[in-house]
Amino acid sequence: MPSTAGGIDLKLLLDKASDRVVGAECDSEFVNVLFSFLTMPLGAIISLFRKETKLGCMDELYQSVEALDEWYFQNKAFKTMLLRPRSSSEFKSANPAAVATSSDDYDILYACYDKKCWLTTRFVSYYSNCPCPCCGRIMGRQLVMHSNPRSDLPLTKFVRLGGPKSSTGGVFTQGRKEFVVTDDLQIITFATTERGTLSVLKRLGIKDGNFVVGRDIKIGSEEVLRLLKCSLRSHTALTDTFLASTPTAEIKLKSTGLKMPNSGSSTNQANKGRRMMGKLVMNRSTKQVLYLEAREDLVNQILSFLTFPLGSVLKLLMGRSGSPLKMGSCVYNIYKAAKDLISKESDLFNSEESKTELLCPRLGCFAGCDDQLLTDHLVEADSSQYYSVASCSRCIYPWVYIIDTEPGLCRHGKKKVEMRPINPKYPSSNRGGGYLKIKTKYMITDDLSVQPISSTRVVLSLISKYKLSVDELEEQEISIGEDEAARMLRASMTSKTVLTDVFVHPEKAK
Ligand SMILES: [Zn+2]
Ligand SMILES: [Zn+2]
Repeated sequence: MPSTAGGIDLKLLLDKASDRVVGAECDSEFVNVLFSFLTMPLGAIISLFRKETKLGCMDELYQSVEALDEWYFQNKAFKTMLLRPRSSSEFKSANPAAVATSSDDYDILYACYDKKCWLTTRFVSYYSNCPCPCCGRIMGRQLVMHSNPRSDLPLTKFVRLGGPKSSTGGVFTQGRKEFVVTDDLQIITFATTERGTLSVLKRLGIKDGNFVVGRDIKIGSEEVLRLLKCSLRSHTALTDTFLASTPTAEIKLKSTGLKMPNSGSSTNQANKGRRMMGKLVMNRSTKQVLYLEAREDLVNQILSFLTFPLGSVLKLLMGRSGSPLKMGSCVYNIYKAAKDLISKESDLFNSEESKTELLCPRLGCFAGCDDQLLTDHLVEADSSQYYSVASCSRCIYPWVYIIDTEPGLCRHGKKKVEMRPINPKYPSSNRGGGYLKIKTKYMITDDLSVQPISSTRVVLSLISKYKLSVDELEEQEISIGEDEAARMLRASMTSKTVLTDVFVHPEKAK
């Protein structure tokens, strides 16, 4: 099904009798869209849906980061890192999720406004609000990423969703191939089905062909976003995306700026076996947890959940118990399909890197945290090499600098120079720190609202909210290692009572 422009092609298979979408026939382009969901960090997804993902208490966690005064963060950029985390594969040839979910600030790095700073240091930041290591002012100058440096079209550079299509494949796959996607987003190729076409019909739930009709549609950003939301929340994602009567009204969109380059780097092995301490305060009789009193290390751990790409969360949690989360299973099916296709049809994918990016998506550059107990499945992306020209007047637009990933000369023959991406945590160093300043105590409520304990009033107002007296409460010391952190992550995706689930009823949070 070749197409010219304006959207991704899809043939919906509709069952007229039951009024549902039984599946869709599509090519690699749509499958790449589904795959790209796995690379999106949780914080980016929550921001996109304006804190209405209803994934456990992730929205509450996000809200408390928003509400937390900048003073508590090491610097302003840390808040941005959590609220608008960037994906490690975002810069990569128009990752569909990144394109569909961001507006014009997609593909941007930041530099110092001071031209002298910028020309002498070549510092760039992935995150806005980062202080310049040279002069200390906020780096706010936007540098626009040129994804195809050899093209003659400097500012119309993006292969927008549904734009001109390449015959060679997409972000993760190569070549053209036909797929069937079920309502719950299982992805089937006839080549991978051992049992033949009948089994495909069975998987689609088609019993009587008389009721099934095909409808050709083109989808754009709006449908991609709806699909992303349905993949997290529903078991019938295609039906809910394309047939549900009022799904669009429910989704309040907001433009975001995610981003990032590629390559792999270290996990924090020093944290193997590390434990963090905290104090649970709970109702003596009901054992309901009111809050957890903890230091910044544990809070950093919890805040870091927002930077985890969806695919790595699924990998981490599936690896531990094998049982899916109680959220919609569709997103699991996308992950399982990626895993399945990588093992059975390895040559479908365009590189080893693409396979890694799907099975174990990396954290955005510099998004890793020293206080991270879940070290096994989290790898921080290395920052890429970026180049730009300073001496070519034709390559510099008013206030817009073009950067790209290839060294050499610009198309006017001027030499490009290398940029130096900085770590907002420790400018000009590659590692460092957590998000929060040290030496503060925090109160983490059962639904993961995080607040600094700045006065007794903070604690007392929570106690009175539950209509309890101090005598009715008891304290319990707890220590949190890798296992507890994983259970907290799981519970935070599905439950509103994370601490009670993990520490009082551990069987619930398994
Ligand atoms: Zn500066
Ligand atoms: Zn030039």
